Amino acid sequence: MEELIYLDHAATTPVHPRVREAMMPYISDYYGNPETLYSAGVTASEAVEDARGKVAALINCDPSEIYFTSGGTESDNWAIKGTAFARRDKGRHIITSSIEHHAVLVPCQFLEKEGFDVTYLPVDSDGLVNPDDVKKAIRKDTILVSIMHANNEVGTIEPVGEIGRITREAGVPFHVDAVQTVGNYPVDVREMGCEMLALSAHKLYGPKGVGAMYLRRGTRIVQLMHGGGQEKGKRAGTHNVPGIVGLGKAAEVAMEEMEPAMERDAKLRDRLIDGISERITGTRLNGHREKRLPNNVNVCVERVEGEAMLLSLDMKGISCSSGSACTTGSLDPSHVLLALGVPVEVTHGSLRFTLGRLTSEDHINHVLDVLPGIVEKLRRMSPV
Ligand SMILES: *Cc1c(COP(=O)(O)O)cnc(C)c1O
Repeated sequence: MEELIYLDHAATTPVHPRVREAMMPYISDYYGNPETLYSAGVTASEAVEDARGKVAALINCDPSEIYFTSGGTESDNWAIKGTAFARRDKGRHIITSSIEHHAVLVPCQFLEKEGFDVTYLPVDSDGLVNPDDVKKAIRKDTILVSIMHANNEVGTIEPVGEIGRITREAGVPFHVDAVQTVGNYPVDVREMGCEMLALSAHKLYGPKGVGAMYLRRGTRIVQLMHGGGQEKGKRAGTHNVPGIVGLGKAAEVAMEEMEPAMERDAKLRDRLIDGISERITGTRLNGHREKRLPNNVNVCVERVEGEAMLLSLDMKGISCSSGSACTTGSLDPSHVLLALGVPVEVTHGSLRFTLGRLTSEDHINHVLDVLPGIVEKLRRMSPV
């Protein structure tokens, strides 16, 4: 079998060997419930607290400000619905952007049905939110601003630090969906000035189904999960101990590997971007050229269906995505590309490659070798 060339790290990452190794004892031997008082429970509880410290170190907060959840989706839901329910006596206005992940957009749409008013800020053609727009949108009854750190489809990195200064000044809580950046790009919650931040283990070489929320001390929030008293009474449910240990190890490994990986990825990314535009006519890069995740390449290829390219690439052993994983399988054009002003017919030809730790120059060369032929063949078959 040919080697699989996996270029969809924005959808999920493989578990790092050191992460898997760290998790194994907590799957097989140390199965105690961390809430219990006997020694097996204490072992598990110590492992959870050790992981909390590692996650806190990665994003520069106090360990007491980290709450473990089931992943990015739960953390985003909690930040948005939990803030809305905690502060609805103060106001019912929420500000977000039109390019957020569905884990932010759909809870906002749910709250609209519950009588909240949501402003979806536009972005420019590179996918950037203008901090001035945030400032202008803030009203007396604004109770939350939620803007992502980096977009999962086009890779654009948002000016969250500037937005944080604006929300601080206005006294409005700020939530950042940093699922794409934590462990892959520097994140410092103090510099961002945010009250809440969502992260997910499986986007930083950890296991699926576990994540965390940074909740700045003193931030008012209502819990989503009611039950036992875990996580200081804010998030009930027996801890996913192996998952949390995996997240902690992934955070520790990220501190060591992130910087060299970013440098390597950016070189390979630029090689792929330049190679595609040189070898294939009628392509455009989506997202900001510089303010972009080091591992993200998102292009639109005119007169070709993204799905058709994706399936042809898959037959050559290359995994990538068309639009985002969540929109694959539906023919809806990507809400992110539409917000960037990409014409509907062009959005259908979008292709996203996201690089990772195991991506090599050979992988990139292979994509550049096979993609032009695939596009040419599909264009010949296409009726348009
Ligand atoms: C993957 C992702 C999520 C969802 O995280 P899960 O852990 O898969 O639920 C949320 N936001 C962004 C930006 C993502 O990339």
